[in-house]
Amino acid sequence: MSTVPKNVDYRHWCDLNKSIEATVDTDEATLSGGAKLARPVELEITCSRYKRLGRLKLHIVTSVILECQRCLEPFEFGIDASIEAFLVGEHEIEYVDDDEDYLVHNSEGCIDIIKIVQDEIELVLPMVAKHPDEQCQPKTVFGELHPEAKSESDNPFAVLTDLKKRT
Ligand SMILES: [Zn+2]
Repeated sequence: MSTVPKNVDYRHWCDLNKSIEATVDTDEATLSGGAKLARPVELEITCSRYKRLGRLKLHIVTSVILECQRCLEPFEFGIDASIEAFLVGEHEIEYVDDDEDYLVHNSEGCIDIIKIVQDEIELVLPMVAKHPDEQCQPKTVFGELHPEAKSESDNPFAVLTDLKKRT
């Protein structure tokens, strides 16, 4: 496993049908919203040509540490995602069908793979992070350990209930 090559002419890699495996280290990717990589991203980059356009496939496997919104404990969220897109220069965008994804390389044929990986990871993260049900232990511990502490008089709505009964 190597690091993601920078300053590579991916157009050329498409001509060669080149594919490589690489890793993105945990400190190389910055995720928004306080999410952190639990382990390096295992990345598979596959370059090819489809008709006359370059085509890029990225397979991303990693996991991210999220905070469960129910019990507030951290947990690991596994990610296995793929991106497939045409790799084009500015002048080639017009050749890509409307319903196809594309990535635009710079004049040297280079693209920022790590940025693309980061964006994809953020895209697949859940809107509300939660443990799977069976693994989540919400902290209602106080009430459970000390059931005697929860008497009816502690309940501010108890008075309300009394009032309702009288009317
Ligand atoms: Zn939880």
